Amino acid sequence: MAEKIYETVMNMDYFKNNPANAGINPIKNDPFGRYYVHALMEGKQESKKTVILLSHFDVVNVEDYGAYKDYAFKPLEYTELLKKGSGISLSKEAEIDLASGDYIFGRGIMDMKFGLALDVEIMHQIENKLDNFPGNILLLSVPDEENNSAGMLASVELLAALKNEKGLEYVCCIVSEPHFQKYPNPLSPPFSYISSPHIKASIIKG
Ligand SMILES: [Zn+2]
Repeated sequence: MAEKIYETVMNMDYFKNNPANAGINPIKNDPFGRYYVHALMEGKQESKKTVILLSHFDVVNVEDYGAYKDYAFKPLEYTELLKKGSGISLSKEAEIDLASGDYIFGRGIMDMKFGLALDVEIMHQIENKLDNFPGNILLLSVPDEENNSAGMLASVELLAALKNEKGLEYVCCIVSEPHFQKYPNPLSPPFSYISSPHIKASIIKG
């Protein structure tokens, strides 16, 4: 997965022209030999202010799928299976989403490939505005969020190195992690809905 993300980033014109600004980085002493990916897009206005777009690309295991675990790696087939009426019961809201045809159902799509895709799309949007962009964007995508945060912990070293080398000032970290609905209508008062703090964000803040 790290290779795929790195490949996607390197297909962007900015990183074709600035290949040293992106990297696929091994996690030191990792028993699983995993990697994390970074890609720094620098605005041409020479500001040091930097926004981090943070995601994780690992997913939970397949056990939740029970008898359907063969479908855990096939989201398109799984979505079709649900449409055909497989006997899997969905919430009313999920049924409406399924019927709309606008959603893919499957493992890791919400948590959090959609967030990673969103971050990549933001990079695409900003790529064409770099002449007037007053700052920098650093995409960071790590493995192991669902367990011990090995990817995030390893990447702190890189964040510190980039900060020293380029004088970056990290002003904000946007974690595109999904939120899980806790109330019937979270958009209606009196409930306000705030993201749960992740170890990822708190490490960077600290
Ligand atoms: Zn997540």
